[in-house]
Amino acid sequence: MPVSGLDPYDDANIFARILRGEIPCRKVHEDNWALAFHDIAPQAPTHVLVIPKGRYVSQADFAARAADAEIAGFTRAVATVARMLGLEASGYRTLSNVGIDAGQEVPHYHVHLFGGAKLGRMIQPD
Ligand code: 5GP
Repeated sequence: MPVSGLDPYDDANIFARILRGEIPCRKVHEDNWALAFHDIAPQAPTHVLVIPKGRYVSQADFAARAADAEIAGFTRAVATVARMLGLEASGYRTLSNVGIDAGQEVPHYHVHLFGGAKLGRMIQPD
């Protein structure tokens, strides 16, 4: 069920629970600003989610409220994960769904990182 990118932060959301260690994940990377782990239902040979450690509902919320250091740290973490996964030479795609029209399902800001094959068109019909 898609969520609004404008709702108040819900500490019970699944990624908050992963951050607190209440639910396991296949971790790829962790630093002061971000946690990266494999998506449970991958849509490409490599499909990793990178999430900030702070309580942000969406990219819009993150851009509005996060400190500059958090934004810089998180942005660098996404690129670090791509490099660690060996995707820089072949290329990769990052994507963040915000709200209803994008079909955002988890109300904790996350960047999808896709790679490992030709990724096709940016927007696919349903
Ligand atoms: P969204 O639609 O919100 O942009 O993407 C949410 C993503 O989270 C989906 O790709 C979905 O497969 C993934 N996901 C949902 N629940 C879990 C979970 O418990 N663990 C992991 N690793 N990924 C999840």
